[in-house]
Amino acid sequence: NTFSELNLSASVLRALSDAGHETPTPIQAQAIPHLLNGRDLIGIAQTGTGKTAAFALPILDRLERRHQTRNGERPAPKSCRVLILSPTRELSGQIVDSFRSYGRHLPLKVELVIGGVPMNRQIRALQPGVDVLVATPGRLLDLVEQKALRLDKVEVLVLDEADQMLDMGFIHAIRATVKFLPAERQTLLFSATMPQAIADLSRQFLRDPVRVSV
Ligand code: AMP
Repeated sequence: NTFSELNLSASVLRALSDAGHETPTPIQAQAIPHLLNGRDLIGIAQTGTGKTAAFALPILDRLERRHQTRNGERPAPKSCRVLILSPTRELSGQIVDSFRSYGRHLPLKVELVIGGVPMNRQIRALQPGVDVLVATPGRLLDLVEQKALRLDKVEVLVLDEADQMLDMGFIHAIRATVKFLPAERQTLLFSATMPQAIADLSRQFLRDPVRVSV
């Protein structure tokens, strides 16, 4: 049971080897094959299980293959290809670090957008377009409403720690954000618990999802 059996692209495998990760964790082993097949997914997993890499690795694989087939085409201005919503600045920062680390052998623009800091720098960073955007929901919606960011090119949406985001009152911002996304996309939802509100959210936002639980 190794990463090389999971059919991940060469640069992702190289970054895993740099990081000293040899064996996929249970959530990674269960989720990655489905995510590489383009399926939507509900992951019931806590922090510490390796859930960040469980979604980051197949997303990076997708970006690398796309980069090769589209001849290095860059993202459109003010747009992003992958959108990851997370409840806190701390978690958002960790997700950005993971993408930069596992994506270190790829030409990739990863940006962080969180509340409580000035917006100008964020608006400038989004201007050329980014591959992966990690954001807290309130600030993200502000930027979309100010037209600093468009979401019509998003290919993958990840809702990380969805139960936390609901507890923090982000449900309205999340619903408003999803209205701007293309219907044709891959959607992933991770949550430590599965209360009714998360089940309802999943039914609305995900299409025929695979469920994995660790
Ligand atoms: P997470 O659950 O995403 O917060 O990850 C917890 C920690 O596990 C992080 O520090 C990762 O670097 C580490 N990690 C993730 N996947 C693996 C793996 N397959 N082997 C060893 N460590 C890992």
